[in-house]
Amino acid sequence: MLDPRSIVFILAALSLLMAIVLSAMPSSMSDRQSGARHWSIGMLGVSIASVLYGLRGFAPDFFSMALANAVSLVAVALLYSGGRAFFGLPRHKPALIAALVISNLALLYFLYVEDHYASRVVVYSAVSGVLLFLVCRDVLIHRPRQADRARFPYLFTAFSVLFDVLVSCARIINALFVSSGGSDFLAPTPINALYFSTHSLLAICISVGFILMLNERLHARLQYQLSHDALTNAYSRSMIFELAQHELDSNQHPISLLLLDIDHFKQVNDSLGHQGGDAVLKHFVHTLADNLRHDEPLGRYGGEEFVVLLRNTPARDANATAERLRQAIADTPYRDGQNEYPLTASIGCATTHERQSLEQLLQQADTALYQAKRGGRNRVEHA
Ligand code: GH3
Ligand code: MG
Ligand code: MG
Repeated sequence: MLDPRSIVFILAALSLLMAIVLSAMPSSMSDRQSGARHWSIGMLGVSIASVLYGLRGFAPDFFSMALANAVSLVAVALLYSGGRAFFGLPRHKPALIAALVISNLALLYFLYVEDHYASRVVVYSAVSGVLLFLVCRDVLIHRPRQADRARFPYLFTAFSVLFDVLVSCARIINALFVSSGGSDFLAPTPINALYFSTHSLLAICISVGFILMLNERLHARLQYQLSHDALTNAYSRSMIFELAQHELDSNQHPISLLLLDIDHFKQVNDSLGHQGGDAVLKHFVHTLADNLRHDEPLGRYGGEEFVVLLRNTPARDANATAERLRQAIADTPYRDGQNEYPLTASIGCATTHERQSLEQLLQQADTALYQAKRGGRNRVEHA
C-alpha cells in the first residue's frame, strides 16, 4: 500500500492538472459567473495544500499544518462558491468568510494551545463535510430538469461530492471513537491511506464532474442558439426546415405549411425605427405562439416572414388555423405605452397528400402568399 505522503503528492499533481484544465474551459462574456474560475482556483488550492501537507516533518508545523489546513478549507469554500455561481445562486460571502475564520481559529487552538490531533480532524472534516454537502444539495436541487438536458454530469458530480462527505464522516467517527489514525495525518495507518486515496480519487471525480457540467451547459446553449432565432425565439430557419423535412420523410400525410408575412412592415420600421420594428416582430411571435399548440412549431423564415408546420393536418383544418392566426394578429395590436399600432399579416397555405419535396411545398405556400398579398393583404389563400 502507498504511504500517505506519496498519495498526498499524487493528489497535488492531479489537482494541479485539474486546475489547469478547468481554467482552460471555454467561457464567454456571459459565462464570467459560470463557477469555472472558482473551481479552478479551488483545485489550485487543493494542490498547494497537498504540497504543504506533504512537507510535514520537513517544514515548520505552521506551514505543513496551520497554513495547509487554512488553504485546504478555502479551497473547499471555493468549490462551494463555484457551484453557487454556476447555478446563479447567492454566495453568502460574509457567512462563508466567518465560518472559515472561526474554523481556522479552532484549528490553531488545537495546534498551539492544546495540541490535539483528533480535535483538528473533527473540526476540519466537519467544516469541509458541511460545505461539500451543500455543493451536493445545490447540484441535485438546481440541476436542469428539461427533457433535452443530460442528467449524467450533474448526478456524477453530486454523488462524487456526496461520497467525499461520507469519507469526512467516517474520518470524524474514527477520530472520535476508534482513533486508529495514529497521532498524525501522515502516520502510515490503513485509515489514513484509505482516506487520502479515496479523497484524491474523489477530488479528480469532482473536477471532472464540474467539467462535464460546464460542457453540458455550453452544449445546451449552443444547441438552443442553433435551433432558435436570436430575436424572436421562434425556431431558426434551419430548424423549422429540419422539422418539416423529418415530417415529410415520415410519410404521415397530409402535412400542411403556413407561410406568414407581416403586411407593410417597411412602414412599421419607418414609423417606429428599426428597434421598434424588432419589438413588433417579438410581439408578432408572441401572438402566434399564444394561438398555436406545442405540436405546431413556428419558425422564422427570414425578415418578417414566418413558417408554421401543421402535422397530420388536411387543407380544411390548415385554412381554419391560418384564419384563426390572421384574426388573432389583427385583434392584437402592438402597444408602446399609450400608443397602439394595428398589425395584419397575409398567409399562404400549402398541403401535401403524397411524397413531395420541401422546396415544392414551400413554393406552393409562397405562391398562395403572393395571391393573398395581391388580393389586398390581411387574408388567407390556399395553394
Ligand atoms: P408587404 O405587405 O408587401 O409584405 O410589405 P412589407 O413592407 O412588409 O415587405 P418588404 O418585404 O418589402 O419589407 C420587409 C421589411 O422588413 C424590410 C426590412 O427592412 C424589414 N426587416 C427584415 N428583417 C427585419 C428585422 O429583423 N428587424 C426589423 N426591424 N426589420 C426587418
Ligand atoms: Mg416579406
Ligand atoms: Mg411584409
